[in-house]
Amino acid sequence: MAGFFETKIEFLKGVGPQRAGLLNKELNIYTFGDLIQYFPFRYEDRTRIHKIKQINATMPYVQIKGFIRDYELSGKPYKQRLTAHFSDDTGEIDLIWFQGAKWIIKKLKPEVEYLVFGKPNIFKSRLYIGHPEIDINAEIKKDSLFLQPVYPTTEKLKSKYIDSKVIAKLQKELILKAPSYIKESLPEKLIRDFNLMKRDTAYKNIHFPVDNSNLTAARFRLKFEEFFYLQLRLLKLKLSRYNRFRGQVFAKTSLLNEFYHRHLPFELTKAQKKVIREIFSDMKSGHQMNRLLQGDVGSGKTIVAFISMLLAIENNAQTVMMAPTEILTEQHYNGLKKYADKLKLRIAILTGSTKKSIRKEILDDLESGKIDIIVGTHALIEDNVRFKNLGFAIVDEQHRFGVAQRAKLWKKNMDIPPHVLVMTATPIPRTLAMTLYGDLEVSVIDELPAGRKPIKTVLQFDENRLKVFGFIRKQIQAGGQIYIVYPLIEESEKLDLKHLMDGYESLSRAFPEYQLSIVHGKMKSADKDFEMKRFINKETQIMVSTTVIEVGVDVPNASVMVIENAERFGLAQLHQLRGRVGRGAEQSYCILMCSQKLSSDAKTRLETMVRTNNGFEIANTDLSLRGPGDLMGTQQSGVLDLLIADIAKDGKILQIARESAKSILEDDSELIKEQNSNIKNHIATLRRDAVNWSRIS
Ligand code: ADP
Ligand code: MG
Repeated sequence: MAGFFETKIEFLKGVGPQRAGLLNKELNIYTFGDLIQYFPFRYEDRTRIHKIKQINATMPYVQIKGFIRDYELSGKPYKQRLTAHFSDDTGEIDLIWFQGAKWIIKKLKPEVEYLVFGKPNIFKSRLYIGHPEIDINAEIKKDSLFLQPVYPTTEKLKSKYIDSKVIAKLQKELILKAPSYIKESLPEKLIRDFNLMKRDTAYKNIHFPVDNSNLTAARFRLKFEEFFYLQLRLLKLKLSRYNRFRGQVFAKTSLLNEFYHRHLPFELTKAQKKVIREIFSDMKSGHQMNRLLQGDVGSGKTIVAFISMLLAIENNAQTVMMAPTEILTEQHYNGLKKYADKLKLRIAILTGSTKKSIRKEILDDLESGKIDIIVGTHALIEDNVRFKNLGFAIVDEQHRFGVAQRAKLWKKNMDIPPHVLVMTATPIPRTLAMTLYGDLEVSVIDELPAGRKPIKTVLQFDENRLKVFGFIRKQIQAGGQIYIVYPLIEESEKLDLKHLMDGYESLSRAFPEYQLSIVHGKMKSADKDFEMKRFINKETQIMVSTTVIEVGVDVPNASVMVIENAERFGLAQLHQLRGRVGRGAEQSYCILMCSQKLSSDAKTRLETMVRTNNGFEIANTDLSLRGPGDLMGTQQSGVLDLLIADIAKDGKILQIARESAKSILEDDSELIKEQNSNIKNHIATLRRDAVNWSRIS
C-alpha cells in the first residue's frame, strides 16, 4: 500500500531509465513520493489574453492570440536567429528565437491562429518576445489554461528537454493514479477545527488547482501538515528528554538572598527577574533543565547567569561557564570574580593558555570539589577535566559551539546531567526559535537596563570620509575610543585584507598623534589577544579590525563604531558589531560607511539599522529579507529544509500547528488513542520512507 510512493520514478509512464537518472541527479527525485512532493513555485494564469497594443516591457508574462504574417532568418548559418512577425487586430510584435530556428520554422504556418505566451522585452524601442511558447489555438484544451503549475528546473534538465511543462505532465500522470494511496495524515478533529482540505484533494490542487480558493486551501493544508510533523517531532524529543533525564533539585536559597539583598549593584530589570524565576522553577523540578536564554547585547545576561549559579552552588553543586574565545572568557571571569569574591566563592579560569602547573592545580580542585565556578573556553571539555559534582553548565554565544562540543559538557556529570543554560545575543524571531530550538525551553530578556542611551546610527557616503575623521578626532579628544571594522568575506580574502591594511595605513597617516591596534583573522591568536588587550587597557585609541571582534567583547570606553563597506554586511552582523559600543555612560555612535550605489536589499538593511536599535525588529527584517536558511547559527540545521512551508512568511500557521501538536501530546503522549491513529500511521510511513524522513529529522 504505502509501497506505491516508494516506487522508483523510472516506472512512471513517460520517465524511463534515462530521464530517471536525470531526475535523481538534478532534482533529488527518486520515487513517486519525491515527485508528488516536488511542488510548483508559482502558477501562470493563462485565462487572460492581452491585446498587443496593451503590452509593455515591464509586464512579467503575457498571452496573445493572433497570426504569423511572415518570418525571416538572420545571422551566420550556425547562429541563426529567427524573427516572426506576429499580429492581432490591434498591432504587431516580434517573436524571436536565438536557438533552434531550424525546428521552429517547421512548426510555423500561415493562416493558423496561435496562442503565444512569454515575457515581453524591448530592443531598440521595438517590442519582442524571446523564445515564446506557441500553440495552435484550436488544439488547446481551454480548461487546462487556468493556473498552470510552474516547477523549478535546472539548465541541465532543460538542455535534455525536461522543462516545467514536462514535469507538469509527469505530475498529471502521477496524480491520476495516486489519490487512493494518499492516506489522511491528520486527525479528523484537527481537520474539522481548522477547516483543512483533505490530504488527497490538497495534493491534486497544489499541482493542478481547480481555482484560486482551492489552491489557497491546498497550500494551507500542506503547510500545516509540514509544520505539524516538524513540531510534533521536536516536542516529542523535548518530552522524552524531560522524562528520561532527572535533574538535581536545588531548593536552598539563603546564599542567593544574601547576594540579592546585600551585594547586587543595581536593580534587576523586570525581564531579568522573570527569566530568573523561569530558571529557578526548572532547577527545582527534579528534571534536567534545557533552556535557551535570548537577550540582546547589553541586556544583562551575565548577572542572570551568576544568580542562577548561586542556587546551584548553595546546593553543593559546581558550575561552569563556557565561552567561545579567550578574551570573552577572561572578561566573564573578571566580571564574575567581582561578585564571587564578595561571597567568598572559589572561581577559576581555564583556557588553552593556562600554564601547566596552574592547570594541574585547577584540575585537582575541580575534581575534589574545591572550585565553585569555572570559566573557560573549549579547554573545559577535554577529557581530563573532571568534576566532583557538576550541577549547572552555561554556554555563552552558543552558536559558536557545535552540538558535539556542548554534549561533551553535559556528560561531565555521570550520575545526573547538569542543568543547562545556553545564552545567545543573536535575537531570533519567535517563529524561528520555535523551530530551531523547538526542543528547548526559551527565555527572553526583552528590555535593556534603564538609563541606557540608545546608540545614534548614521549613514555616511565614502566621499564624506574627512568629515567622519574629524568626528573621530573630537571623540578621542573627549576620551573615547573608536572601532573601525572592515568586511572580510571568504571569496576575496586577499583583496579584503588589502583593504584592511590600506585602511590601517591611511588611518595611521590621518591620526599620527594616536595609537592604533589592528586585529584580523589571519593573525595568531596570541597576537590578536595582545592587540585586543592594548585596546582594552586604553593604550590604543583606535581599533582597526575585521569582524573578529564581533562576539561579546566589552570595552565600555569605546563610543564609536565605524563600519566600512557597511552594505556588504548582513543585518545580524551589523547589529552585533554595533552592540560593541553603547556600553558605557557616554552617548555612543555607529557610522555606516557605504557607497552611493546600493542594491535595494542593502538599502533596506542600512535603513533598518538607522531606524532601530531593537534586535528583535532587526531579526524580523533579516528573516524576511534573507529567509531562514542564512540567519546566523541556522546553517547546519536540517529543520529548515522545508518543502512548502516558509518560516518567514507562515508564522501564524506554524503557531497553530505547534499548539495543536502540543495539545495532542499532552493528551496522548504515546499517540495510542484511536483518534490519533492517523498520526501514528503517518509517522510509520515517514520512518519507512527514509528519504522523506531525513528531510525533517
Ligand atoms: P550581555 O547580555 O550582552 O551579556 P552583560 O551581562 O554584559 O550583557 O551586561 C551589560 C552591562 O549591563 C554590564 O556592565 C552589567 O553590569 C550591566 N547590567 C546588567 N543588568 C543591569 C541592570 N539591571 N541595571 C543596570 N545595569 C545592568
Ligand atoms: Mg555577554
